[in-house]
This record gives sequence, structure tokens and C-alpha cells, in this order.
Amino acid sequence: MSVLVSNLGFPRIGARRELKTAVEAYWAGKTDKAALLDTARSLRAATWERQAALGLDIMPSGDFSFYDQVLDASVMVGAIPALYRALGTADSLEIYFAMARGLQTGTQDEAGCAHSHGGAAADVPAQEMTKWFDTNYHYMVPEVTPNQSFQLSSTKAVDEFREAKALGHHTRPVILGPVTFLLLAKSKQPGFDPLTLLPAILPVYVDLLRKLQNEGADWVQIDEPALVLDLDDRQRAAFATAYDRFANELTGLKLMLATYFGALGDNLAATLALPVAGLHVDLVRAPEQLDAVLAGAREDLLLSLGVIDGRNIWKADLSALLDRLEPIAKARRKLLIAPSCSLLHTPIDLALETKLDPQVKDWLAFAVQKIEELALLAKALNEGRGAVAYMLAANRASIHARRTSPLTNDPAVRARLATVNIDWTRRAAPFAERIRQQQAILALPPLPTTTIGSFPQTAEVRKARAAFGKGELDEAGYTRFLREETERAIRWQEEIGIDVLVHGEFERNDMVQYFGEQLAGFAFTKAAWVQSYGSRCVRPPIIYGDVARPTPITVDWWAYAQSLTDRPMKGMLTGPVTILQWSFVRDDQPRSQTCRQIALAIRDEVVDLEAAGARIIQIDEAALREGLPLRRAEWAHYLDWAVECFRITASGVASQTQIHTHMCYSEFNDIIAAIGAMDADVISIETARSKMELLEAFATYAYPNEIGPGVYDIHSPRIPAAAEMEELLIKAGQRLAAGQLWVNPDCGLKTRKWEDVKPALVNMVEAARAARAAL
Ligand code: GLN
Ligand code: ZN
Repeated sequence: MSVLVSNLGFPRIGARRELKTAVEAYWAGKTDKAALLDTARSLRAATWERQAALGLDIMPSGDFSFYDQVLDASVMVGAIPALYRALGTADSLEIYFAMARGLQTGTQDEAGCAHSHGGAAADVPAQEMTKWFDTNYHYMVPEVTPNQSFQLSSTKAVDEFREAKALGHHTRPVILGPVTFLLLAKSKQPGFDPLTLLPAILPVYVDLLRKLQNEGADWVQIDEPALVLDLDDRQRAAFATAYDRFANELTGLKLMLATYFGALGDNLAATLALPVAGLHVDLVRAPEQLDAVLAGAREDLLLSLGVIDGRNIWKADLSALLDRLEPIAKARRKLLIAPSCSLLHTPIDLALETKLDPQVKDWLAFAVQKIEELALLAKALNEGRGAVAYMLAANRASIHARRTSPLTNDPAVRARLATVNIDWTRRAAPFAERIRQQQAILALPPLPTTTIGSFPQTAEVRKARAAFGKGELDEAGYTRFLREETERAIRWQEEIGIDVLVHGEFERNDMVQYFGEQLAGFAFTKAAWVQSYGSRCVRPPIIYGDVARPTPITVDWWAYAQSLTDRPMKGMLTGPVTILQWSFVRDDQPRSQTCRQIALAIRDEVVDLEAAGARIIQIDEAALREGLPLRRAEWAHYLDWAVECFRITASGVASQTQIHTHMCYSEFNDIIAAIGAMDADVISIETARSKMELLEAFATYAYPNEIGPGVYDIHSPRIPAAAEMEELLIKAGQRLAAGQLWVNPDCGLKTRKWEDVKPALVNMVEAARAARAAL
């Protein structure tokens, strides 16, 4: 028996975000292409070398990307929409980045001045971007046409295999599989199903696989995470079509079919019937599938068991894993062990965290440490536990320390949670009664105007925060600065006639981090960056312990802001599901339990805001939709506790206090009943980009509460005209009662510039006035 350590993919941004620095410098025109390629090459070399040193036997290549691996796949098969081909550049990298982020020559972009572009002025939008399965990583949605032709258009996979070979590493190239690619692809032609393009795309894959084989690859990892989704028979059959074809046309090349993010479930039988040489399964998300996989796997199928969590940052219980793996290793001739999925979703190296509480740090493993864990497991399996006895003992000690630590267990939080009953989730009166009381107090005009919360986080705001962080600006100076910014924002809102004001959120670095930093049970890292999309990285907080709110978080800021104006000032909070969703969450209790703890903490904040005099409190649940499980059968359970948590948060106040919520980026059809059950008095949603189409779900459902469909797309610097927003309001008024409607932008304005925001909001107020007369 032999057990080998393999990896499905390593983070490519670099431990110090070197890739971010390099691509952004290139985009800004500060460095040239040669410098960028050079940085990329040395990052790849360092990544291979590091993994080899950590004891990795089977090393991926092709997992590097300048922006996104799905975009790489689009370019690989030649799914490059005409729009980008028409740019008239021979530089494939320029086309690639145009697909990733759009190309507007002669204007400013987020990284500084636009990259110079030979030829005529260009103005093309980026491809659509969306979340990769249920992760917080975003990919570029492949776009195909009904008569799409494919041809191998990039040799990236082959080049990187060869590059590794030259450095002495024999790698297993990684590519995105054809069926998942087409299932993720979209067409602008309504009703067209991209999967019908399968026969057209397969020859390109055969071509590429053959090239890899000619270059010396014996195994190729082919990712088909779509196998963990609900599939119909036709979709399932597409896998057989694809992999039968590969088996027929490619002799001698072995495919490791990689599935991850969940159980194969009802796709298991079909998957095991595919003529592939290897299968990777996720045993972290779906440990229960192991027996069925073992029972059904051909004897000569090489199994890759994903036993180390590629989605989270906790140390694995190695002894427990060995208990499970030892009998399997004995029974099978050869076995691979691996992270559950690509390590793209974890930070790179725990060693860079010098400020973490050493106790908490001892419970964590980032990408580097996860490969070390795998190497240790393999050694124990191949040579016996005695060979690594000392390391196993240390691991047991960490696991035990975490399990029994008072840091993870706050009896007061647990006792309180035990007293939560249905009454905690119910407002004092039904909506119809509440809204009557609220209207009597607030006395707002019909179609009241408001904004979602944040105002521009200007360079000055960020500079002041950085200076305060470094100690160059003292607390009093920083507070003074923030108060001035807040006052200016309030005066300006009054001046242009907004009805319900916000303070602008200048004091907040991020809508989750700001709250996490003031809650017990959260830890923050210095360098634990994870790629979110392109060059954008996030540092999710780590929820390691029971969550409590030692002191009020936002009340002082709210009270200051309200003291400046007679108009209602919204209290502004982030909801429990969103805080959970954008953090690394403890894995020693159900997520629902952690979420309930956060819900209680935020509920306390809501109650304190009310006591301080707030008449309107907004609880943002931007991420509620994205928390939906991949399988429909699990939706109801998730929505149940997610809605319950929101209701716990919102239900501590009197009927006359108006609770708002906000959601963005949502496909509302799937969750409209849950949104109804949240029973917020007012919800603001993103609708401008879809020209109110997203409102359809609310109309069909006959959503009874108040609603502010976004009339201004804040994702673009474009300034919408008053008439355009008025038209959207009229459209909304045809679907919903005018008396239900609020007028607001799509989302917060923090990423915009004041010079865009000011005219846009002036126009919005004008649109509301006109619509009041018209509706
Ligand atoms: N209140 C937040 C803001 O305006 C909401 C942001 C969001 O929904 N993503 O910034
Ligand atoms: Zn939003």
C-alpha cells in the first residue's frame, strides 16, 4: 500500500499579495508586460518549490491565474465574445484583462490611470461576474452564443506544465472540465442551453489533453464540481458523453476527476460509471459519502480523498482522520489524500500572523500548514503512527486545547441562548399595525427618499484611518475628522431634501470587520488574505468562540449623527447571517448555532439604538441569498434558521420602531418566501441593473411590507437622469402599490466618488418628487 499527498490547487496571489501588486501596477501603466510575466513566473516557481519542500507528492500546475481560472478556461476554449475580439489588439493578455475588467481607454479606473491601448478608443464592459458555487470567490461567467465555435486558444496549461518541468517538478495539470464549464456558461440568447455545445467543445479538450500528454503529463486533474449539484438526467448524461469520448480518444493519459464542495449524492452512481482513472471526493463537506464511494469504486480507480478542509482555517484532528484512513489504506493498493478542494479559499501561511492570540493561533492551519498536515498523515499511513508520534501528540494537544478552552465557551452566552424561545422572534404586532404606528411618528411623504448607508470612502477617509492605525493620528484627532465628515454628509442630505438620513459609515473599515472587531469570539489576522476576485483580496474575520457584545458598538455614532438633525437618522447594522457568511466560522458547532449567538449580540445593539432614540434601524443582510446551500433539499433548513436569526435580531423593539433590511446581488425568486418571513418593515433591494425585473418576484408573491427598489445603479460611475429614475419608479408602481414604495439607490455609496454621488442623488430626489405627483 502506498499513500501519496496531493493538492488540487494553491493560492496564487502570493503570501504578500505580490500578484495583486504586480497586476495593479501593470494596469496602472506603471510597469510593463515583461515585468508582470516575470513576477508571475517567480511566484509560480516559489509555489512549486514550497509545496515540494512541504512533502507534496502530486503537485498541481495551471492553478495559477492572472485573474480567474474560469476566465482562463473561457480563453482556453476560445469562448471570447466578439466584443473583445473586436478590440483589434494582438495582445492576448490585453484581451484577457478586457474580459476581466472592461476596457475604457482614456479614463481613470480603480487602479489609477487606464492602461495604454494601441488603436482606437475602446469602451467595453467586463464580463459578468458571480460567486463560485457557495464560496466568496467570484468567477467570470463564460459567455457563449448558439453558433459558438471553439478552438484551442491558449497554451497556458501546456506552458505552465513545461515551466514546472524545467524547474524539476513533474506536475499534474489542472483544468476546468467541459461539462461544468458549459453548465456555468450563459448565452444572451434567451432559451438557449449552452450544454448543447458539448459536442463542439470536446474536440478542443481532446486537443489540449493530447498536447499535455505529448509534453509528458501522465495525469491531468479535471475539475467537475458541478457533479455535486442537483442535475437532471440530460446534464448527468453529458458527463458520460464527455468522459467516454476522452477515454476513447486518449490512450494512456489518466484523468483525475475532481469533485468538491459537497456530496456526489444522486450523481454518485453516474460518476463512478465514468471511465476515468481517478476520482477526488470532498470528505470535509460530505464525510458521509465515503462508505458509498468505497463500496462503488472500481478496484483500479485511484481515489483522492479530500480530508483536509480547503474552505476553512482550522487544524484537522489528525488522529481521528487516521482512525478513518488506516483501514482504507490497507484495503486499497494506492491512495491519494488531499485538501477537500483547491486551497484557493484559504490564506497562505499562518507563520505570518505574529499578532494573533497564541492560543487561537495554535488551532489554525492555513494552506502551507494544511499540506504539512497531509504529509504527516501520509507518513503515519505509510510508516505507522510511531514514525510521527511526536507530531501527532502535538496535534492531539491542540485539538484538546481548543475543545476545552474557555475561549470557545462562554457559559453566559450559552445560558442566554437556551432561554431563547419563539417570542424572541416575534414583533409585538403584525406589520399592518406596526406600519400605522410608525407612519404616525415618522410623518414621511409618500415615496420617502433614503440611501443604503455608506457615503464615499474617499482617499482622505482612508488616509485618516491608516494614520490612526499607525498611531500618526491620535484618537481625538481621528474622531474629530470623522465627526466633520459625518456632519458634512448630514448637512448635504438635508440640503438636497433626503427624507431619512444616514450618517455615512465613515468610521467603518468594512461592514463585517467593524462589528467583528467589537464582538467577543472574533479574531483578526494581519496577512490572511484570500482572493475574492481578480486582484481583490479579503481578510475574513475568524469566529473562534462564543459571540457576545461587551458594549454598544454604534450607539455613540448614531446619537451624534441624530443630534445634528431633526430628520430621522437610520441606525445602521450588519445582520447576523451576513457576518457569518463573510467570516471563517468555527467548525465545532453548527453554523446555525454561531449565527444565533451573533443574532443575540446584534439584537442587543438594536435595542440599545432604540433606547437611545432611533426610530428607524436598518439591519443589512447582503449575504443572505449567497448562503443558500448548493442542493435544493437543504434550502428549507438553511432559510429556516437564517430567517429565525434575522427575526431574533429585529424583534426586540417596539412596534413603532421601524426595522429596515437591505439585500444586494440577489436572485430573489428563490428566497422570496423567506424574505416575506423576515417581516422587515422596509426592505431595500438591488433592481436598477435589471430595470426592475427583480421586482417581479415581490409582485408575484404580493409582498405586503414596504420596499425600496434601487433606482440608481451604484456599481457604475454613470449618473442616472431624474427622468430615468422616475420611469423606474413608475414601473415599480405598476407592480406594487405606490404606498409601499421607498426611493433609494441599489446599495451603499462607499465605492463611488462624491462628484458622481451628488448629482445622482439630487436627480433621485427630483425623480421621487415627480413620481409622487404621477403615481
Ligand atoms: N449599509 C451598507 C453600505 O451602505 C450596505 C452594504 C451592502 O449591502 N453591501 O455600505
Ligand atoms: Zn447592498
